[in-house]
Amino acid sequence: MRVVLLEHPRAVVPERCNDIANTPLASCLLTGYTAGVLQEAGHEVEIVEGYLDHLSYEEIGRRIGDAVPGLLGVHMVYQWQRDRLLFDFLEGLKASGAVPYIAVYGYYPTFAFDAVLRECTAVDAVVVGEPELTFAELAGRLARGGEIGGIPGLAVRDADGGIRCTRREPVKDLDRLPFPVRTPAMMRLPEVNLQGSRGCYGGCTFCYINPFYGQGSHWRGRSPENIAAEIDKILEKWGKRDFYFTDPNFFGPGERGQKRALRLASLLKDRGVRFGIEARVNDIRDETIGALVAAGLRSILIGLESGRDESLQRMNKRTTVAQNEAALRILRKHGIEPNVGFIMFEPDSTLEDVRANFEFLKRNRLLEKLEITANVLYHHQIVLKGTPAYRELDRSGRLRISDNPYEGTAVYENDGVACLAEVMRGLTNFLFTRLSGVWSGRVQPPPEAPEIFRRANAHLVECFETILSTLEAGGCLQEAERDAFVKRHELHLAGLLAGIPEG
Ligand code: SF4
Repeated sequence: MRVVLLEHPRAVVPERCNDIANTPLASCLLTGYTAGVLQEAGHEVEIVEGYLDHLSYEEIGRRIGDAVPGLLGVHMVYQWQRDRLLFDFLEGLKASGAVPYIAVYGYYPTFAFDAVLRECTAVDAVVVGEPELTFAELAGRLARGGEIGGIPGLAVRDADGGIRCTRREPVKDLDRLPFPVRTPAMMRLPEVNLQGSRGCYGGCTFCYINPFYGQGSHWRGRSPENIAAEIDKILEKWGKRDFYFTDPNFFGPGERGQKRALRLASLLKDRGVRFGIEARVNDIRDETIGALVAAGLRSILIGLESGRDESLQRMNKRTTVAQNEAALRILRKHGIEPNVGFIMFEPDSTLEDVRANFEFLKRNRLLEKLEITANVLYHHQIVLKGTPAYRELDRSGRLRISDNPYEGTAVYENDGVACLAEVMRGLTNFLFTRLSGVWSGRVQPPPEAPEIFRRANAHLVECFETILSTLEAGGCLQEAERDAFVKRHELHLAGLLAGIPEG
């Protein structure tokens, strides 16, 4: 069967620019892996890179029309409730007869399958969780003209207008999957994305990595030999040497996880590659990091999340502030300045928690670069369907949902925390929008940029301190005062950044 897999264009929503990505990094190879499994099963697959190739829906429609697929798969990502354009496109496509069957997959539809099936009549099925095997079974059944009922991992409408959904067991042995298909668009990215593992042995309340894979999901790793073999293929075919492991948790649990990482380091050492990873702080150990750096490790994102043990416990992070600080020390000793995941404002934060976070960031030199400061001084906890936090907030009546049940907002327990979060949201959104050209690499910064950023950084830190101290002293800001504060300091920041080109 001929199958087209589409990465659809993604809406840009300026007011959500600082709310992390609209799909986890771990999703970026879903299409490539699905294409690999479909090809292995004998299907003919074309990937249309609507997002990376900046294609219009008109152009995408033309390509799908030319391909004449028996099945269209759409990797659907969350667009901050701007799905209508995609739904209209799919409905038009179906009505024109260009494609007989449409199935969508990805993190967003896995958790919002009922809303997707209700709102878009053109979608015949939603693949929930890991898509590869379900998609291959669906393509096989359609090719044979068989019934699709009863395929595990599929959500479909039933004859009574209801929706049926069953889950599929996650793939046990990742080495058995073919390597993902890679398109020229993927290979134009600065780093080649690799997936060395799936799932996580942690259980953070805000995370939906394990819920995506389904009940009983845990960390599953590819063997170091299998990863090295894929890297060799990429080196040979594309000559690329920069890689990024999209694994939410690069290290497996405990000693076994460290041994595997050391084995991978020994395999990569002489290949002349550079790579980045994402990890939990409790897995950052001196010997392993030393070996990985010698093998080409150049960047790492660690999930610190908080500078207060009480907050870490509420998030079920299963780490401590002491472990956060030890991880920073080890990474810096090996010459790596990490990117950090940090949740300044969680629903139950008190002003004491926020103060502890602020002092933690200062003490650990994490408020010295504007692009990092703007992130860590704002991030609130995103509440997505499927996470334990979503369920708990819903149960306690503190979840606010607007149009789409996929995403909720937590009502803050503390009014002062809510006020400070709102101010920082305004100021950091201004910075992310104003500096998007420079921070995305589209615009070249002038030579004086470091000094300009240093001053803007100091001003942002000062704004945080001013509001926090006012609240700690028992003061409060009414909505009008808060808005006036944001306006005044946006103007000040705009003045400081006058020498930085927009774009
Ligand atoms: S450590 Fe990371 S991947 Fe694992 S559960 Fe927590 S947030 Fe999710």
